[in-house]
Amino acid sequence: MKVYRDQDAHLEVLQGKRIAVIGYGNQGRAQALNLRDSGLDVIIGNREDEYRERASDDGFEVLPIAVAATQAEIVMLLIPDEVMSDVLRDQIVPSLSEGDALVFASGYTLAFGQVTVPDYVDIVLLAPRMIGAGVRDKYVAGTGFPSFTAVHQDRSGQARSLVLALAKGIGSTRFGVVEVSFAQEAELDLFTEQCFGPAFGQVLTTSVDLLVELGYPPEAVLLELYMSGELSYTMAKIAEMGLVEQSQLHSTTSQYGSMTRGMRFILPELRQRMQHGLDDIRSGRFAEEWAAEQTAGCPTLEMLRESARSLPLYRLEQQLRHALRGEPIPEELLEATEAPPAAPTDEAKVASEEALRSRPAAPAAPRGMLSRFLASLRGLLAPAPAAAPSGALSRRQLEHVLQRFCALASQDPALQAFSHGRRFTSHYVLGDAGLDFYMRFADGAVESALGVPVPAAEVRLETTSDVLDGMLSGRLNAMRAAMSGRLQFKGEAKVAMSQQQVQADLVRVYSQARGEVVGTDA
Ligand code: NDP
Repeated sequence: MKVYRDQDAHLEVLQGKRIAVIGYGNQGRAQALNLRDSGLDVIIGNREDEYRERASDDGFEVLPIAVAATQAEIVMLLIPDEVMSDVLRDQIVPSLSEGDALVFASGYTLAFGQVTVPDYVDIVLLAPRMIGAGVRDKYVAGTGFPSFTAVHQDRSGQARSLVLALAKGIGSTRFGVVEVSFAQEAELDLFTEQCFGPAFGQVLTTSVDLLVELGYPPEAVLLELYMSGELSYTMAKIAEMGLVEQSQLHSTTSQYGSMTRGMRFILPELRQRMQHGLDDIRSGRFAEEWAAEQTAGCPTLEMLRESARSLPLYRLEQQLRHALRGEPIPEELLEATEAPPAAPTDEAKVASEEALRSRPAAPAAPRGMLSRFLASLRGLLAPAPAAAPSGALSRRQLEHVLQRFCALASQDPALQAFSHGRRFTSHYVLGDAGLDFYMRFADGAVESALGVPVPAAEVRLETTSDVLDGMLSGRLNAMRAAMSGRLQFKGEAKVAMSQQQVQADLVRVYSQARGEVVGTDA
C-alpha cells in the first residue's frame, strides 16, 4: 500500500515552469489559489465572462485559453468534462510544445475515448477527492485532502515527480495521495455515483417511507435518519477512525443491536446489482448513453430532475428546513398537502398502534405554524389512498377496465404522438390478479392489449392491482411506489423513465376507461 505524502513530493520540480489553469470554476479557482500560495507561477485561461472577472479580482493574469496554454509549460484542465473534447482539440492542443504537461482532474474523458491527446507531452491526472470549496478551505486550514494521481504518458521521464509536485502545490500531499490509472479513477468515481450512492439513498428513502407509514412523526423520522446532522458527523468519524473502530463511539446497546441485526441485510442481490452497474460503466455503455443524452439536449435528465422535485420527500425536507429555522413555510410548499390523510391500511394501523403503545403519551396538539407544518407533513407522507375500499376493483372489473384502457390507448392521439421516433414495449405484470398487459410504441403507432407481449418487452413493471389502479388513476405517485418497492421495474431504465412524459395522458385514458366500466364513483 503506497500513500504519497509531503516528503515524497518536491516543489523544486516546478521551478521555472509556468502553470496555466484552464477554467476558473469549482476546482479551477481553488487549485489556482492554492498553487499561487505555494509560491508557484500561475496564470488563468478563461473565456470572457464572470469567471474571468473573478479570476482578475483575485489578482491573476487572465488570458484567452489558447494564449494561456501557449505561455505555460503545464496546462491544468479544470473545465467540465462535457466540453473537454472540443476545448482541448481546438484551443489547447495547437498551443502545446514538446515536453509540456497536460493535467486532467478527472480520468473520464480519456478513459472513455472522448479526447485525443498528442504523443509529445506528459499526460497526468491529479484528481482531488474533494469539492472545490473544500480544496481551498482545507489548504487554508493546513489539513489537506486526498487525491488520486495517474501517469498516462511519461514523455519527459519526470511525469510522476511533476504530478506529485502539483499535488503538493494544491495541498494534497499534506493528507495523502494514491496512484491509480485514469480508467480506475473514472470507474471508481462512477461506481460511487451510480451504485454506492443510489443504494445508500434507497436505504434512506425506504426507511422514511416505512416509518412514516407506520405512524411515526415525519419530522422525527427525518431528524432521526439524517436531517439532525448526526449521520454526517458519524460519517466524518468513519473517515477519521475507520468503520470498525468508530463503533466504539456508540453505546453497547447500539453495538450489540447493529452487529447482531446487521446480518439480516447481507443481500446477495445487492452485490449482483452493483456488479451489473460496474459492468455498464466498464464496458463504456454508460459513457456512450450519456454522450447521446447530451447531444439530444439532456431531455431525460430534465425529466428526472422534475420527477425528483415532485417527490413528497422533497417538499417534506424543504418544510422541515423552514421549520427548523423558525421561518413560516411558503405557500407553495403547503399546496395540496393539507388534505386529511387517507385511512391507513389495517396492517399499518396495527403496526402503528403497536409502535405508539411503547411511546410516551403524545403532547397536546400543537398550534400555529408548527401545527400547520405537522398537519401538512402527515398529509404529504400519509399512506397513499390507492387501496381505499370504496374504489377497490374486483379482478373481473380490473380486467374489463384494462381491456377498455388498451383499446382507447391504441387510438389515443397524444400517445401516438409520443410514439413517434420510439420503439419499445412496456409489459405490466399484476401478480395478485394473474393479469398481464402491454403497451408497444412503434414509430407513431400504439399497440396495447391484455396478455404477454411477443417478442419480450424492453421494460417490465411488476406491481399489484391496487397500486396500478392508484397510479393510473393519478392517486399514487409512480416514483414513490417504485421507491417503496410496491412497483418493481426491470429492463431499460431510460426507456421506462421516458414513459413519464405521457403519465398524464395514461391517467386520462385510464380514468375514461375506468369511468365507462365501473362508473366514476367506483
Ligand atoms: P466547473 O463547471 O466549475 O467549471 C467551470 C469553468 O469551466 C469556468 O471557468 C467555465 O467558464 C469553464 N467552461 C465551461 N464551459 C466551457 C467551454 N465550453 N469552453 C471554455 N470554458 C468553459 O467545473 P469543475 O471545477 O466542477 O470541474 C472541472 C474538472 O474537475 C472536471 O474534469 C471535473 O470532473 C473535475 N473534478 C471536479 C470536482 C468537483 O468537486 N467539482 C472534484 C474532482 C474533480 P465559462 O464561464 O466561460 O463557461
